[in-house]
Amino acid sequence: MKLDTSPVTQHIFRDHCFYLKRDDQLHQHFSGNKARKFMRLLQDDYAGIDTLIGYGSIQANSLYSLAALCKIKKWKLEFYVQRIPQWLKDNPRGNYRGALELGANIIECDSAFSEGIHPADYIRDVRQPEVNCLVIPEGGRSYLSEEGIKGLASELLTWTRYRPNQKFAIALPSGTGTTAFYLHKHLKRHEIPVLTCACVGGNEYLHSQWQELGGKDFPTVLSANYKHHFGKLYESEFRIWQKLEKITNVEFDLLYDPYMWNCLLPWMDENPDINVLYVHQGGILGNETMLPRYLRKFDVQPA
Ligand SMILES: *Cc1c(COP(=O)(O)O)cnc(C)c1O
Repeated sequence: MKLDTSPVTQHIFRDHCFYLKRDDQLHQHFSGNKARKFMRLLQDDYAGIDTLIGYGSIQANSLYSLAALCKIKKWKLEFYVQRIPQWLKDNPRGNYRGALELGANIIECDSAFSEGIHPADYIRDVRQPEVNCLVIPEGGRSYLSEEGIKGLASELLTWTRYRPNQKFAIALPSGTGTTAFYLHKHLKRHEIPVLTCACVGGNEYLHSQWQELGGKDFPTVLSANYKHHFGKLYESEFRIWQKLEKITNVEFDLLYDPYMWNCLLPWMDENPDINVLYVHQGGILGNETMLPRYLRKFDVQPA
């Protein structure tokens, strides 16, 4: 199975024209940058494998994407998490709900016998995977990801080549920075800059991730005039997210995209001759848990 390439749409936001690479539309369930990262697993033949083993956070976008991948491949998914809160078990939401519906087996590592054990250790020492199992490192790090992201770079490049008289910059928010790093690696020689921001752990964390991936040449990191902590709620981010949706009719993710837009708008003001090609990296199912938190905090009408 091969996925179709995703479309590019054109929008105007705060008087800026920008283009949007709709990776959220790659496939009904297998979409966004996790789909790019796991593309090799989809396309390669893994003879003798019938079970994928992953681990990470209970609301990770990668949990849902791996569940979708396994559904397509007809593999079983075992996904190990530290623990599942009782309220979530009682009322599944977000990526956890989506993954359950796709048939994922989500397993808690914490028990009376294994209190506080790291899921990676649990898999190695307790689960002890057999030869029919493929174990995926958290978030689908590094080497596995490069090929799928290179595919995205080549789609972006082809698209810009049809518009030879315009200058472009690619923009996308970073978690581990893997997607931005490989996009930069494959677009640099074509002189297309990659702009990103550090949504998790700040600029030092992002640069240390990139140093681990190799090379000395990195994407451009934009910042906003406030410090951003991953998973925290910011009123300015919620407002920009609401406006974006209203004006573009596209739903953006609430964890990563709003901070990137807060970083990006001033850059757009300063670089009016460069067209932004923004990569929508999916993650919309996560809004199912983020949006109620935001609404409770900022949309309460005063009495
Ligand atoms: C995982 C994810 C990111 C971060 O990707 P990295 O390659 O880790 O930087 C950004 N946006 C969404 C929607 C994601 O799911």
